[in-house]
Amino acid sequence: SVLVDRIAAGEVVERPASVVKELVENSIDAGATHVIVETQAGGMQSILIRDNGSGIPFDELPLAVERHATSKIESLDDLEHILSYGFRGEALAAISSVSYLEIRSTHAGADTGGLLRARGGTIEEHRIDAPTEGTGIHVQELFYTTPARRKFLKSERSEDTAIHKELLRLAFAAPELHLEYYRDGKPIFNLPSDNDLRSRIATVYGPDFAARLLYVEERRDALVLTGFIGDDRSYRSQADRQFTTVNRRPVEIRHLPFFVRKAYGELIPEGGKPIFFLNLEVDSTRLDVNVHPTKKEVRLTDEALLHGLIMAACQRALFPDTP
Ligand code: ADP
Ligand code: MG
Repeated sequence: SVLVDRIAAGEVVERPASVVKELVENSIDAGATHVIVETQAGGMQSILIRDNGSGIPFDELPLAVERHATSKIESLDDLEHILSYGFRGEALAAISSVSYLEIRSTHAGADTGGLLRARGGTIEEHRIDAPTEGTGIHVQELFYTTPARRKFLKSERSEDTAIHKELLRLAFAAPELHLEYYRDGKPIFNLPSDNDLRSRIATVYGPDFAARLLYVEERRDALVLTGFIGDDRSYRSQADRQFTTVNRRPVEIRHLPFFVRKAYGELIPEGGKPIFFLNLEVDSTRLDVNVHPTKKEVRLTDEALLHGLIMAACQRALFPDTP
């Protein structure tokens, strides 16, 4: 029901940045190699995401905004679902229930496109349209149905900052994705497809910054940590450059930043705040995904193991010659 969707919406979509995250992840899931994100007024007025992915078949457009409707594989276990795909089939339903949503999509190979418009979760229009490339999803007047939540949002400026950070998280999670971001009509970044994480970091923060990062690769039991950490004291002012992915999806790991800071504190006491770009490969059975309502954070069931892994990784990266 629309009411249930609206309640769910509060969990799936906290703020404009969570809408951006869900939509870009859908584009990536659809095989897109190029995604263009345009926002107006902190995403509260408008979020437009266009991709060159495989598109949605005309008949399936209404399903896309129905709760628990998903076209994605059902054979994986639940935890893995949540990690790889966010909420199963809930994001678009939740978003549409609290906004004015328009989808234009052309399924790969079709010679006509489709258009779907929904307002507050109710479909108002579904018709054949001129073919486009991939899918464009336009979310307007987010939370107009729930004024309380709308009021709860911070300033446009802080929503813009949150969207920017979310897009960078996606950019580092998928370095090969060509990602463009426009805010209130102004270009903010245009990241070409990069070959690997270090080149992506170089594109975003400059080649000098990327060149000074230390490569990390460490395994313990079933955990594999890879990526880059920074050991330079001049990074003090760049403490916001901390990014983690779990199985290549942008997810925060509870206590990981603390463990890295602690390792640094012990290894180089005079050092500044560390910066890192880390991916953790881990079996979903070792994760607790219910620590955050929007699933943006997970917790390792064995945090001591994570702590040990981080310590060893930092030690090896900072002092490669010690046995
Ligand atoms: P989920 O991603 O868990 O399947 P969503 O609510 O995010 O659920 O999306 C519902 C469905 O809509 C997806 O399963 C997919 O079939 C379709 N869809 C959404 N966005 C896109 C897109 N950009 N390209 C192709 N299909 C999409
Ligand atoms: Mg999704």
